[in-house]
Amino acid sequence: MSIDYTIGDDIAAIENHPQGAFKKGDVFTCKSLITRDCCNSVQVDIGVKIERGFECGCGNRVEGTVWWFYASRFRKLDNLVQIN
Ligand SMILES: [Zn+2]
Repeated sequence: MSIDYTIGDDIAAIENHPQGAFKKGDVFTCKSLITRDCCNSVQVDIGVKIERGFECGCGNRVEGTVWWFYASRFRKLDNLVQIN
């Protein structure tokens, strides 16, 4: 899946996060993008912090204080507005 946004763009969630970190339609700013080795997925930093790391969608434990999310859960806000 291709990502239609980059760092600094306003992005909207297109689905609810399984653990409730965000809801469909919530808007964030893309702060950073990475490719995570454990499952070769592109992940996005939307400014959500977590104290003791998190579990990647593939089950791998990720250390640090940034809660990264699958980039495919978001779309660039401008593009969504044009579609709607
Ligand atoms: Zn992973």
